[in-house]
Amino acid sequence: MLVAQTETGQKITLLERYSYDYYQALKETKFYCPICKGKLILKVGVKNIAHFAHEPQSSCACEYERETPYHLEGKKGLYRWLEKQTKVKMEEYLPSISQRPDLFLPASHIAIEFQCSALSLEALRKRNKGYYRLNVTPLWILSAKRFRRNTKGSLKVSYNEWKFLQPPVSHSSPYLLYYCPNFSRFTIVSDIIAFSPTSVFATVSYYSTASLSLHSLFHPRYSKASFFVPWVIKKGEWRMKYALYPKNPYAPLLKLLYTNHIPPSHFPSEAGLPVKSGYFIESHSCVWQLYILLDHFLPQKRNCIIHYETILKQFKRRIQSRHVKLRELPMITKGSFEDALKEYLRLLSTVGFITEIETNCFLINRMWTTMPIHKHPIDGDYQIMNKLQLKQQKG
Ligand SMILES: [Zn+2]
Repeated sequence: MLVAQTETGQKITLLERYSYDYYQALKETKFYCPICKGKLILKVGVKNIAHFAHEPQSSCACEYERETPYHLEGKKGLYRWLEKQTKVKMEEYLPSISQRPDLFLPASHIAIEFQCSALSLEALRKRNKGYYRLNVTPLWILSAKRFRRNTKGSLKVSYNEWKFLQPPVSHSSPYLLYYCPNFSRFTIVSDIIAFSPTSVFATVSYYSTASLSLHSLFHPRYSKASFFVPWVIKKGEWRMKYALYPKNPYAPLLKLLYTNHIPPSHFPSEAGLPVKSGYFIESHSCVWQLYILLDHFLPQKRNCIIHYETILKQFKRRIQSRHVKLRELPMITKGSFEDALKEYLRLLSTVGFITEIETNCFLINRMWTTMPIHKHPIDGDYQIMNKLQLKQQKG
């Protein structure tokens, strides 16, 4: 904690780096928690930054997170960034919901949490619920230590981070926000296209706190970076290994492929397309799209007509039987996995696989694209992605 009360009720906030003597003088003072009124210890060390801590036996409801120096520095850095723009309160206690956000903006009703440790989904839901009750918008900023790039252009977003996906504002897409107090820098991850449960392709923007306002934090800028080639390469790698795991989590899918005489590595290239709302689905993009293809678009169905409702119904069955998993995104209240389904069907019609002859009613035009077994399946993936790219550039 950075805020405490003295015996006389005076509020002390440890924002500055005071001198050693000053802290020695402060140590004479008795400090109390503004919330539980329990005794606090002033901790000043060479390595640690000065902060208050409850006595070990305390059961204060508001000490959720063991505060690392990084977390404390983060709170301070964010406070300094915000105080130039608006009224901001450090560790303000909101008694009606018994919560104490790291920072609170009373004018815009925003609670900012700088999250450095893991937080369970239930705990996150509970805290958000409290904020929503007070009509306060929670803004979760993750420690930049958690931001990780994979090789070859994708990013790693762990199960722990996905739940902090912030809702889109105006026309932008959902995004993740990271902050690093050491470099006074924000990292905004937007235009997130989910590839697998924990890897995504996205636009990454870095902003120094000096160049970014609170407003622009809520309205991250779009830039259309092309990731088509790294996407195809990643998909090509996945093709070669997913069938090989022992105790294979994809067993039902592999069985379905086998029944249809499709070698696992040579599944149709129409599966595993980049779908904008695909983040609603936790399963691998190749997996959920393969189920749709194999459930409805078999080669013998050419020239047949299929309705969206049929596809949706079967997809829900796949969810029920846990062949496809949805992602829990507590802050995303608009949209659902159905958006991903519809966008996928739109992509399939973009590449000429199907045609929407009337609303939600599709004609199957051609067979899917598979490469003969002596050829690398990635050739088919490039064909499809090129078609997509060409059409999207025109349109
Ligand atoms: Zn307390």
